[in-house]
Amino acid sequence: MTDFDRTRSLFHLPQGVIYLDGNSLGPLPIAAKERVARLLADEWGKLLIRGWNEAGWMTMPRRIGDRIGSLIGAEQGSVVMGDTLSIKVYQALASALELVPDRRVILTDSGNFPSDLYIAQGLIGSLAGGHTLHVVEPEEVDAALDESVAVLMLTEVDYRTGRLHDMSALTQKAHSVGAVTLWDLAHSAGALPVDLAGAKADFAVGCTYKYLNGGPGAPAFVYVSPRHADRVRPALSGWLGHDAPFAFDLDYRPGPGIERMRVGTPPVIALAALDAALDAWNGVDMQALRRQSIALCDLFVGEVEKRCPMLALGSPRDGTKRGSQISFLHDEGYAIMQALVARGVIGDFRAPNAIRFGFTPLYIGEKDVHAAVDILADIMQNRLWDTAKYRQKALVT
Ligand SMILES: *Cc1c(COP(=O)(O)O)cnc(C)c1O
Repeated sequence: MTDFDRTRSLFHLPQGVIYLDGNSLGPLPIAAKERVARLLADEWGKLLIRGWNEAGWMTMPRRIGDRIGSLIGAEQGSVVMGDTLSIKVYQALASALELVPDRRVILTDSGNFPSDLYIAQGLIGSLAGGHTLHVVEPEEVDAALDESVAVLMLTEVDYRTGRLHDMSALTQKAHSVGAVTLWDLAHSAGALPVDLAGAKADFAVGCTYKYLNGGPGAPAFVYVSPRHADRVRPALSGWLGHDAPFAFDLDYRPGPGIERMRVGTPPVIALAALDAALDAWNGVDMQALRRQSIALCDLFVGEVEKRCPMLALGSPRDGTKRGSQISFLHDEGYAIMQALVARGVIGDFRAPNAIRFGFTPLYIGEKDVHAAVDILADIMQNRLWDTAKYRQKALVT
């Protein structure tokens, strides 16, 4: 039994706030605050440069990579931390393309996050090798997988709708036509069970500030299947991915396995916050988390549809076909979300018309869902969103 009352007590949740945006930025774990304070005072403050060895700073990217690996079904020693997700997409995609040198097509879908598409476009430009990015609708991916495809690059859970791809089936299909796969787990890691090894995924990447609660700008992770890890060539060949960084050789020689996906100096303070945040997962059964996530999402959908008929469901109705978030569509979505935030119900807005709510069983329960729907129903039924101040767009939506 997973005790979600216990996990909830591990987070700092401000009074008067119902936080339904953990799919964008997880809340502050109390342990992270303490861990960072200790790191600053005792490690950076007292050890100074000795911290790299004595406090284990240099091995954090691998050690924490393994902790995340256990949440996403990765083999031990196949995940490493560092940089941002966009950079990890670049690195993994470049390495994946090199494994299939005779093909030129990167297949993706229109539900992918724009940064992943932009990174692919930039890489194609740098390679100048005639690669193309083929973008199809999410339902068309399976049919578009043919022997021209070098890399199938998908985000498992659609950031806008929550639609979930079948990682195992699509990976199998990709392999059957000789393509390799790159899965973005930004909205999967910590949101639902993932089995990278079982699915025989080739590459995967993800961020840690969403469902993993690592904090704003927390470092990303990259997974390379042990089948490939000793033969991929990292396009970002920095010194900490070198076989012997402190030999200071003039020529690059990749480190063993996943080590080679490291680039430069690790963000130690951010990694410490993430390391402490991951403690919340001790004793959490991912299957129990999934059941609770589906139950919370189903409850929200049912209540909103009953009380707010002017909102259209923008997510799959079948809980097993979506991640841990729900979107509703409305032309005035931006103003509606601002009105919600003003009342303490925090979700977010994704253009053109989606209001998005994340359901995170670690700290959100049924009571929160009912309280959030009460406020949403009041706002919708009384048109409380219909005021100029809620239409003013902020920099981050
Ligand atoms: C959140 C998200 C990103 C963000 O990338 P950063 O480099 O961390 O800003 C990229 N891709 C997907 C699929 C995401 O959901």
